[in-house]
Amino acid sequence: MTDAALLDALIAVTGPQGVLRSEADLEPYLKEWRGKYRGTAGIVVRPASTAEVAAVVKLCAERGIGIVPQGGNTGLCGGAVAEAGQVLLSTDRLTRIREVDAEGDHITVEAGVILAQVQTAAEAADRLFPLSLGAEGSCRIGGNLSTNAGGTAVLRYGNTRDLVLGLEVVLPDGRVWDGLRALRKDNTGYDLKQLFIGAEGTLGVITAAVLKLFPRPRSVAAALVAVPDPAAAVALFGRARAEAGGSVTGVELMPRLAVDFALRHVAGTVDPLSERHPWYVLLELSSPAADAPLAEQLEMILAGGFEAGLVADAAIASSEAQRKAFWHLREAIVEGQRFEGGAIKHDIAVPVAKVPEFLERATAAVEAAIPGVRVVPFGHLGDGNIHFNLNQPERRPRCLHGPLGGDRPPGA
Ligand SMILES: Cc1cc2nc3c(=O)[nH]c(=O)nc-3n(C[C@H](O)[C@H](O)[C@H](O)COP(=O)(O)OP(=O)(O)OC[C@H]3O[C@@H](n4cnc5c(N)ncnc54)[C@H](O)[C@@H]3O)c2cc1C
Repeated sequence: MTDAALLDALIAVTGPQGVLRSEADLEPYLKEWRGKYRGTAGIVVRPASTAEVAAVVKLCAERGIGIVPQGGNTGLCGGAVAEAGQVLLSTDRLTRIREVDAEGDHITVEAGVILAQVQTAAEAADRLFPLSLGAEGSCRIGGNLSTNAGGTAVLRYGNTRDLVLGLEVVLPDGRVWDGLRALRKDNTGYDLKQLFIGAEGTLGVITAAVLKLFPRPRSVAAALVAVPDPAAAVALFGRARAEAGGSVTGVELMPRLAVDFALRHVAGTVDPLSERHPWYVLLELSSPAADAPLAEQLEMILAGGFEAGLVADAAIASSEAQRKAFWHLREAIVEGQRFEGGAIKHDIAVPVAKVPEFLERATAAVEAAIPGVRVVPFGHLGDGNIHFNLNQPERRPRCLHGPLGGDRPPGA
């Protein structure tokens, strides 16, 4: 099939507004945020309904044309990059919130709804959709499902996989698999929806999902805690769980270098502690009970930590603004890293107790392999998920090749 014939067939499905061809229109879909990967596909198709997705997939399948689904294009691993000869299928017009059922604690959304909009819709119904990550203003729920995204609340609520009750998927031949069920208990055979979660579009295009909602937290307490090393951070986490149990909802680990990157490059970031420390933990407790004594519990955890030599200093958020400032500092690390030259990013997970040993051994190994490399490991200590990121040595030209290469400057 010629390009022109394919184009006509796609336009017949979606209308002219659903097919993009010009260089300027394609640019945002082909360019990846870090400038590390670049797609070369000549067609972006933007179906506006499940039926349109099904028709597009059928049409391409019959002609042997590959499809790459794309949500918010924030995955950063090249998974949503489409090459010449393939069609990039964007979900950015599948943006309907089909149902919010506060009584049943679930929400049904189309794949292209932005994560922050799911959170807002839940909040409007006095509920919480707990998936939360740095890209939440642009990533789309279909992308979150397809990468089984984690984020900052995995400790309490689990990965995206744990937040799903049902899915609707267009299969590779264009048939629609309707698994949009909202049952809490569903023991009717195989749990097929789980196959599509974390599958990065290899088994079909997710078009809609039924997601779980939870009671909103009404009490929150957070502290930014300076600790001597990751082993102290793990021990502090153990004490927090013993003291506050399921109220411990956030435990983020940050080395000083990561904090420096955030403070150096990202507006609005503040170091709440007067002195520099080698490691920090952002510790957050929350509860749906309005009168939960979280501040007291946090103070007890920190006081015990001081006595045990696990805590060097700490700032407890005295207002919602300060709590948000702590999280802004944590989330600004990703942005700050962009300005520090080439980087290699790893999203690793080990049992929580093994995090210190992993950091020690992996850091020694990469420092031996790449002299001068700057190791910047940070992330979700509470579930053993650390972003083990490596930045290129200082005062060297930005790497284009070699172990830290391929990370071109934005726009290059
Ligand atoms: C600042 C920042 C912070 C992040 N923090 C975290 C974090 O804490 N935890 C974490 O797990 N991840 C994190 N990520 C990565 C995260 O996985 C993605 O941001 C997000 O989940 C991907 O959503 P997206 O809509 O951008 O997907 P895209 O990047 O568009 O796509 C990702 C993959 O899913 C496929 N896909 C997309 N939509 C569909 C669909 N409807 N059906 C089938 N396949 C589809 C694509 O083909 C691709 O393979 C972060 C990213 C950024 C930029």
